[in-house]
Amino acid sequence: MDTQLLDPEKDKSVYEKAASLLKSGEVVAIPTETVYGLAANALSGEAVEKIFAAKGRPQDNPLIVHIADLKQMKELARYVPESAKKLADAFWPGPLTIILPKADCIPVQVSAGLDTVGIRFPSHKVAQKLIKTAGLPLAAPSANLSGRPSTTTSNHVMQDLKGKIPAVLEGGACQVGVESTVISLVGEKPRLLRPGGISLEQLIEVLGDVEVDRAITEKIDDDVRVSAPGMKYRHYAPKAPVTVVCGNPDKTFEYIKLNAGEKAGVLCFKEYVKMFPKCECREMGSVNDLKEQAKRIFDALRAFDETEVCEIWAQCPSDKGLGLAIANRLKKAAGFHIIELD
Ligand code: AMP
Ligand code: MG
Repeated sequence: MDTQLLDPEKDKSVYEKAASLLKSGEVVAIPTETVYGLAANALSGEAVEKIFAAKGRPQDNPLIVHIADLKQMKELARYVPESAKKLADAFWPGPLTIILPKADCIPVQVSAGLDTVGIRFPSHKVAQKLIKTAGLPLAAPSANLSGRPSTTTSNHVMQDLKGKIPAVLEGGACQVGVESTVISLVGEKPRLLRPGGISLEQLIEVLGDVEVDRAITEKIDDDVRVSAPGMKYRHYAPKAPVTVVCGNPDKTFEYIKLNAGEKAGVLCFKEYVKMFPKCECREMGSVNDLKEQAKRIFDALRAFDETEVCEIWAQCPSDKGLGLAIANRLKKAAGFHIIELD
């Protein structure tokens, strides 16, 4: 299959073209502010199956449904609690996915058999315009091959999906760079299932109490039932094995310097790049610039696959603010192979 790159900056008619692919049951990769998504009509099980096929995604991993109008939330959810309205008011459009009881119109392929649905209103203008042009809610997981780092440029999408999907809609580099925060509102208390572009601290400010699922910071065994099935899979992984080193940045630098072997890759803060002259270094932004780190992390992980490195060492930010999401992606890329120095 030929994969077309459709650029709305060059030709406005690409929205109609992408919308007509989606309306006819095809998949299209789309930009969002978090990462690129692989979209299909969320109301068609048959269309959604093509997402799973192109990505090689396990069938039990549900998809997030993207909307471009608050009214669509009521059509997709069986009911909308007051807490969901508060979150939508505070953070939509933006990088937050809200899990609610699903309406009957959601096909089983989208919810992966759960009785809930994840809903998000993205802020990226290209995504919004496409959803409106198609007149459909769009189911979209990240547009990468399953298990690989998520895609934050159209070039990354082509690396993974060229020849497998009909089109990629260009939207520039993603501004957030890590996926949306996923919060469930179906239990007794709001529960953070995945840290992301909206921090835990921001959620607590709006909701008061928020429980944190332990799969965010710990490895979960394959036979354990988790609230968000995606959390149990090895994810975001470059080809070489990753070790994450947590703690004070000066200490993690010393540790990596001492332990990194020949042909090691190092993912480090900007301040330390020049201090590993013998390693393949990729920098992920300054120690205190979490926004920059989030924006760069997947590109940096992908970049190691173009080198000969046979092991990768990564410095890890603390769990504060956006750091919780960055640390979670690094730990998952490492299959929770973590060294704690503090
Ligand atoms: P991705 O879009 O590839 O980042 O994957 C979507 C993530 O959202 C996965 O980790 C899912 O487990 C989670 N998710 C989507 N829908 C639901 C749902 N109904 N309940 C719990 N988690 C969900
Ligand atoms: Mg994903």
